[in-house]
Amino acid sequence: MKFDVEKIRNDFPVLHRKVYDKPFVYLDNAATTQKPVQVIEEIERVYKTINSNIHRGVHHLSDLCTGEYENAREKVASFINANHSHEVIFTSGTTGSVNLVAFSFGESFVGEGDEIIVSAMEHHSNIVPWQMLCERKNAVLKVIPINGDGELIMEEYEKLIGPKTRLVAVVHVSNAIGTRNPVERIIEIAHKQDVPVLVDGAQSVQHEKIDVQKIDADFFAFSGHKIYGPTGTGVLYGKEKWLDRMVPWQGGGEMISNVTFQKTTYNKLPFKFEAGTPNYTGAIAMAAALDYVGKTGLENIAGYEKELTEYAVSKLMQIDGLRLIGTPRKRTSVISFMIENIHPYDAGMVIDKMGVAVRTGSHCAEPVMDFFGVRGTIRASLVFYNTKREIDTLYDAVIKVKEMFN
Ligand code: PLP
Repeated sequence: MKFDVEKIRNDFPVLHRKVYDKPFVYLDNAATTQKPVQVIEEIERVYKTINSNIHRGVHHLSDLCTGEYENAREKVASFINANHSHEVIFTSGTTGSVNLVAFSFGESFVGEGDEIIVSAMEHHSNIVPWQMLCERKNAVLKVIPINGDGELIMEEYEKLIGPKTRLVAVVHVSNAIGTRNPVERIIEIAHKQDVPVLVDGAQSVQHEKIDVQKIDADFFAFSGHKIYGPTGTGVLYGKEKWLDRMVPWQGGGEMISNVTFQKTTYNKLPFKFEAGTPNYTGAIAMAAALDYVGKTGLENIAGYEKELTEYAVSKLMQIDGLRLIGTPRKRTSVISFMIENIHPYDAGMVIDKMGVAVRTGSHCAEPVMDFFGVRGTIRASLVFYNTKREIDTLYDAVIKVKEMFN
């Protein structure tokens, strides 16, 4: 192990609280991650020392705050290796980023009879905006199917893509079953037909080094709160060649160049897509989260999380009647399971009483649940501050569930 987990844990105050007088075990990291003091203190520092609305002031604090906001953009660009920092748009999260592309790309490039491809394992936020676009434009949504292990059927994808395809939108890592999709190959196939690809990186950016130029993604979306940053923050990366040709999403201050009642002209990138006062405090604190992750090292994080996930899967599989939902060959640290035919909500309540936070339900991915014929699952999602000791507590909690319901 390349880092000291106990030292890392000391940076996350909430991990040290108790729940029902028991040590708190937080295994709901795919929903949101906990925040290190470095991020919490950064929010406090901004409000205590430099808070001022950005871009439009000539006074000193406005200047300082603008500088830090733009510096945060540079940090994000370097974190994902974007070619230009103006290819980084700050949004409210992955949902905001996908909606931006579905509207702006849709208005600019999608017409009647055109096709958008998504996959059968998408989060609702990478389904519904495309359905809304298809309704508006009379376009058609096509779906890449998955197999019984919860992997995309790539041969079917190759058959779906054709001259009417305008865009492919696919999740990098499934939040419901943990599958890590071969986005590099998906993008290569799409680009052969000049079709751009949006990658939903909500569950990948915190687990592996993202290089948007290497994978050649046209758009890459993620949420700050899932990578140890504040809620209400997120990023849309888009290649300049697409963003430049897309109409703005929201209208308002900052996204304009000139306004008259006859005609308004729009600002250049990235401001064209950032109408109104942005969450500048959030963006600055998100950059502090990226610094934290960068300092720990994504290779170290990935190595540790892999070891922890293997331990968790092998430990849980010792339990009679426990069934994994999704058994892909390439997975990250999201583990979805059922215990016999006990309802996930019932199981979740018992697990909670042991101080363990897991998520139960459909995980905003109802089509995935339908595919596996379940109404929901129990999901444990791990990150680099979790420990084998915590996995053992989850194991004990699952045993307790079985005892109670049998
Ligand atoms: N995509 C995936 C794969 C997710 O897991 C989530 C959130 O769980 C989202 C999109 C939406 O993210 P947010 O709610 O932060 O916008």
